[in-house]
Amino acid sequence: MLSCIVFSLVILLSSIGQAANANDDFRRSSTKYLWLESASEAVQRMNDAEANKIFAFIKANIILGKPHQKSLQLMEKVKSDNWIVFVPLLEKDGLESAEWMDISSASAAANFLPEIRALIIKDVPFSSIGKAIVFLHENYHAYVFANNPYEEQNIREYCEEEMKSHEFQNRITNLLGGEKYQTILKKEVGRIADGYDETETIPTRTTYDEMATALTKPASRLEDDFIQTSFWIHAAFSFLEERFPREATEKKLCFLFSVYQTGGIL
Ligand SMILES: [Zn+2]
Repeated sequence: MLSCIVFSLVILLSSIGQAANANDDFRRSSTKYLWLESASEAVQRMNDAEANKIFAFIKANIILGKPHQKSLQLMEKVKSDNWIVFVPLLEKDGLESAEWMDISSASAAANFLPEIRALIIKDVPFSSIGKAIVFLHENYHAYVFANNPYEEQNIREYCEEEMKSHEFQNRITNLLGGEKYQTILKKEVGRIADGYDETETIPTRTTYDEMATALTKPASRLEDDFIQTSFWIHAAFSFLEERFPREATEKKLCFLFSVYQTGGIL
């Protein structure tokens, strides 16, 4: 129910040398380099203890992989017991199998799939800050899984983990965006407060073009969508924490549940 993607757990081991398409392999390995670089720069700027811990985990455990039929082909040697496969997803990867087509056509920019220990990132342009935020959010999930592996999560567990990963993401975005970001956040919290009626529904998302100067200029539509949606979730969390200090956790879980249900994830 939580994931419509069912994979074979068999992961093929092979060496880079066998690659059929060297250009694609090169593109994937530069993507891995660039995403790690962006995360590294952001983490140094933020100096946040949790971000430092998650980045150290990524550096030590991430290996490159690519879709292969219903599963994955590893492109690097496993470095540790906590290995996580980083998969930059090219458009053509959807042709590998119905499972990869599902992932390719999903609206999310990135996903962590515990069943294959894989962090999937669509290989579309993202700004450096956008890369860092997406990468750290998804690696938050990878870190949780590596430290406490689970077979399956129920809906509440799934939403609780998402709530915590969004709280982490909100904090690091605040650090990266600084005062300008916080000013727009205040404005959005006000809009949500004005529209929050007796049905207790958070008003639907809007768009803040100012985000391009306050946080980062999006390099693609997918990034713009990611940033605007993340910002809306951040503002909704801030509003619920201010308005319902004692019930904030339950209210945030309900809100996320409705977001994921509307998005077809749950
Ligand atoms: Zn998440």
